[in-house]
Amino acid sequence: MAETKKKTVFSGVQPTGDLHIGNLIGAISLWVREQDKHDNIFCVVDLHALTIPEAIRADRLRSTSLDVAALYVACGIDPDKSIIFLQSQVRQHAELAWILDCVTPTGWMNRMTQFKSKAETQESLSTGYYAYPILQAADILLYHTDLVPVGEDQRQHVEITQDIAQRFEGLFGYHFTRPEIMVQQVGARVMGLDDPAAKMSKSTSNPRHAIGLLDEPSVILKKLKSAKTDSRTAVDASDLGAGVKNLITIYQAFAGGSWDEAVKRFDGQGYGALKTGVADAVIAGLEPIQRRFRELREDEAALTRMLERSGEAAAERAEATMKNVRAAVGIWR
Ligand code: ATP
Ligand code: MG
Repeated sequence: MAETKKKTVFSGVQPTGDLHIGNLIGAISLWVREQDKHDNIFCVVDLHALTIPEAIRADRLRSTSLDVAALYVACGIDPDKSIIFLQSQVRQHAELAWILDCVTPTGWMNRMTQFKSKAETQESLSTGYYAYPILQAADILLYHTDLVPVGEDQRQHVEITQDIAQRFEGLFGYHFTRPEIMVQQVGARVMGLDDPAAKMSKSTSNPRHAIGLLDEPSVILKKLKSAKTDSRTAVDASDLGAGVKNLITIYQAFAGGSWDEAVKRFDGQGYGALKTGVADAVIAGLEPIQRRFRELREDEAALTRMLERSGEAAAERAEATMKNVRAAVGIWR
């Protein structure tokens, strides 16, 4: 029987700050779980990080990007099975983004909820931030991606990628593979510890907001102890508040087992016991990742070699697409 072609997976994380357990639960652990089934491309999207110039430290962006690449490997992405590279290594991302910028109506961008909510709280945002879903579309379409494993917050951006691909095809006749979103059943949207109504994010300033993948055990315990719950004192399985639900989601992601088992494990227990139980699971789960991260980061030359090798493989594939795209829109070479 003819072997069926593996599906192409593309995803990434922005090197905008310390990666947190939301990034691991919602995205990276999904990449790891599905890794053997697919043809994988995992990118450290450093060009995306530039969209919020106030949030990045230019002198540190390079090293933060290397940290993220090392974390991918430490979390279980195998560089022999998956391509891991920095977005800026492959210039075709920026080139395709420009071409797609030119075919995307501004009305589509005005509907992006992430932009709208950020614009409400921030006085001035860059044009790059406004157009960032189009750069993301370029990232995805460049590799004719079938599946995009991401957190729930990215659903609208994957949908707009499909629309952009369709519009491009209508205008220029070139067919990009239409990508589908892939999300976790539980943990696709981990909430902030300080505010269970807000998504856990790297770029939130409250130090009690997120658990970093590299946080020390004592810090993890302290953050969880201060996590916002509700006015009750014990877990009631029949009526879980948003904060408690979020803690149980985190527990399940690290301890494994089903959602029902996780709820049963804490039903009737006080919030103090819940928080300690979650902390134990998170600390145990992050320990091997942190150990492996330190080893990888100690040998920067090896990490750089891996990125160079992978970056070349990505660039070759990206250039194959771009040759056709340039021909389709009529620009030289
Ligand atoms: P930033 O605040 O810089 O946007 P972020 O935490 O949202 O940081 P991203 O780099 O934008 O992180 O996203 C990386 C991946 O992690 C994406 O797939 C995103 O959907 C996923 N992700 C981010 N936050 C969460 C979360 N709280 N729960 C589940 N998945 C998440
Ligand atoms: Mg984000």
